Amino acid sequence: ESFGDRRAKAENMFRLMDGFLKNDPVSLQKDIIYHVEYTVARSRFSFDDFEAYQALSHSVRDRLIERWHDTHHYFKKKDPKRLYFLSLEFLMGRSLSNSVINLGIRDQYADALSQLGFEFEVLAEQEGDAALGNGGLARLSACQMDSLATLDYPAWGYGLRYQYGLFRQIIVDGFQHEQPDYWLNFGNPWEIERVQVSYAVKFYGTVEEEVSNGVNYKVWIPGETVEAVAYDNPIPGYGTRNAINIRLWAAKPSGQNDLESYTTGDYVSAVVNRQNAETISNVLYPDDRSYQGKELRLKQQYFFVSASIQDIIRRFKDAHDNFDEFSEKIALQINDTHPSLAIAEVMRVLIDEERMGWDKAWDIVCKIFSFTTHTVQPEGLEKIPVDLMCSLLPRHLQIIYDINYKFMEELKKKFGQDYSRHARMSIVEEGAVKSIRMANLSIVCCHKVNGVSRVHFELLKTRVFKDFYDLWPQKFQYKTNGVTQRRWIVVSNPSLCSVISKWLGTEAWVRNIDLLTGLRDYASDADLQQEWRTVKKINKMRLAEYIETLSGVKVSLDAMFDVQIKRIHEYKRQLLNILGIIHRYDCIKNMNEGDRRKVVPRVCIIGGKAAPGYEIAKKIIKLCHAVAEKVNNDPDVGDFLKLIFIPDYNVSVAELVIPGSDLSQHLSTAGHEASGTGSMKFLMNGCLLLATADGSTVEIIEEIGADNMFMFGAKLNEVPAVRDQGASVRAPLQFVRVVRMVRDGYFGFEDYFESLCDTVEDGKDFYLLGSDFASYLEAQAAADMTFVNQEKWTRMSILSTAASGRFSSDRTIEEYAKQTWGIEPCKCPF
Ligand code: PLP
Repeated sequence: ESFGDRRAKAENMFRLMDGFLKNDPVSLQKDIIYHVEYTVARSRFSFDDFEAYQALSHSVRDRLIERWHDTHHYFKKKDPKRLYFLSLEFLMGRSLSNSVINLGIRDQYADALSQLGFEFEVLAEQEGDAALGNGGLARLSACQMDSLATLDYPAWGYGLRYQYGLFRQIIVDGFQHEQPDYWLNFGNPWEIERVQVSYAVKFYGTVEEEVSNGVNYKVWIPGETVEAVAYDNPIPGYGTRNAINIRLWAAKPSGQNDLESYTTGDYVSAVVNRQNAETISNVLYPDDRSYQGKELRLKQQYFFVSASIQDIIRRFKDAHDNFDEFSEKIALQINDTHPSLAIAEVMRVLIDEERMGWDKAWDIVCKIFSFTTHTVQPEGLEKIPVDLMCSLLPRHLQIIYDINYKFMEELKKKFGQDYSRHARMSIVEEGAVKSIRMANLSIVCCHKVNGVSRVHFELLKTRVFKDFYDLWPQKFQYKTNGVTQRRWIVVSNPSLCSVISKWLGTEAWVRNIDLLTGLRDYASDADLQQEWRTVKKINKMRLAEYIETLSGVKVSLDAMFDVQIKRIHEYKRQLLNILGIIHRYDCIKNMNEGDRRKVVPRVCIIGGKAAPGYEIAKKIIKLCHAVAEKVNNDPDVGDFLKLIFIPDYNVSVAELVIPGSDLSQHLSTAGHEASGTGSMKFLMNGCLLLATADGSTVEIIEEIGADNMFMFGAKLNEVPAVRDQGASVRAPLQFVRVVRMVRDGYFGFEDYFESLCDTVEDGKDFYLLGSDFASYLEAQAAADMTFVNQEKWTRMSILSTAASGRFSSDRTIEEYAKQTWGIEPCKCPF
């Protein structure tokens, strides 16, 4: 078929399609009703809000698909260098509002729906969260995909389609319980199943030798084969026709085992065994900082890596006859070490299947891979027991050993017989459990190793990967994380969005966030201040209603809404916050009436999930509830202090809570948070920060100025000395008193809280709650004083939003594109 024939056919088909879908209200209504009738299969005379949401989503999805097809045709035609972003976690949240805003058709849909008697916002609330990730790292992937699409970069995301996302947190008597999140129960209109895009993924078995043309080759004879089926999730850019893709893999039984099943004679158990293949993509691991070398976890990693690499190579081969241009056309980004088996997999495919020589394959691998680490603690780095790798991926283990052998030879040449250095840097860790160090593998093979904030970069250079930095300083960089203003202002805070656009006289900041600095000129303007406060009030009302529905507690809108929402971790120091609240409560209780009237009322909000096996984190949640029980029911305290735990913190909860907060807390002990992205979302929404100088906060201070936030605590360079002093530094009396109140059962459950209190005893207080307590209370007092002066507070709030431009993921992605991936925009014409 000639090109001309193909084109004529395509034009004919386009005519049959009746052009692209139209976005006027009548067309949208027809479309929604069409989907009610034919997709959801409900009668157009009788459907409820959820069914209306489903029909609406399908109608939006149709429009997404048009752009997505066009983008892919265009990428195919232009054949630019592409970025493949491998991540085991994507925390997407809801898709509907974000999609219609990025497609530029939100108002049209809202009109169309209101004429049908529905409210867009109400239908949007019907959507559940896609929670295929744990926390910061996973939400970062989602923000970065939004920026890649908006900035027209030719990128694809790859990940796993877990059937069970992050567990749902429910609270029973103040204790966290985990419920499975079987999120696909009601269908998922945002994905497209691609049954024809599937690959066989191999596991176990043996490695044999084969001689071909006098050369020895290794052949992996697998013991088990599982099929990976693609599910595509279109990601629309804002203000562009481009829509990119996240391809998630689901495990299905492979047809290749059929023969065996029939010969065993036990048909039923054979079918049941085949079905077990699906368990690979069943469940997301709920720990966000450490992974013990579990077989299923390793299987998940390899499953998604193998399918993705097969898909990438297949796409490359469709357009190229040989591998000469492979490294000029492909950049592979590894999001933390979780996908780092991709390195060994590309080596294996090139050497064993494409029959390329080691040196040529190695040259390609070293050019295409880059790696971002999100870890601060050396002990948080992923290790895989050699025994496990040997059984599950025998050929990959050989390749990793070969890489390591060559690396060790290089080290010997460079550093001679410095064996302790060799041992520290080796990819293989000797010891009771011999293991593969996935970070070392990634550093050895990637051309760039990125940190996620400047402080993190310093820690990588001087502590975590010091030896590697000494060897290859040019490999190390950092790209401070960012978040997308599309979701975190435009979708989640429409009132603020309007005020910003009005005062800047343009909506262009939604794509060009640097324009936000223009707000600085009006930070003291009385009219803007008034509008700004009105927006905050509207958002606080929404949040107050949510709190009342959840907990039955009525909160005053005049109170300062003080929020700490993030995963529960000792290093994030929610315990410091709770102990501070106990101190505040204790002070209010001991005040006379006159003094009480001067108290700045607070609504303290805490939310976050604890990893299911993390006992201390679970005790922190219980303590929060025990304190809330006491405080919220104490008539002496009334509106001066309320403590609310918001259960099941996720993206859509964040979208509600962040715009309604006055103050947000980021309390990690200096040196423990690699970046932190929650703070950036609060900053964008004009919430003032009470924080330690840790992770990206250090850069936030530079943008906004220390006067416009409330800083406290030991600095990074002070932490080791404070820690070394141990038991000799006594915590202040207020701290001793509040810990004693917990120990003595003032809030009940004294036995249960004993081990929690032990963690902050003098000498054992690793995260320095005691030594930071006084300065924490001072920062809190400064926040109170400022809140009384609403003009000053509002000015600081406006300046926070104005300073948030540097923390957009658009900036992060531009830096990665130029400094790490070497990719250019590829903008699909409208
Ligand atoms: N979890 C969710 C749902 C989020 O939206 C965020 C925000 O970035 C995080 C976790 C990470 O928060 P933080 O950086 O404060 O730990």
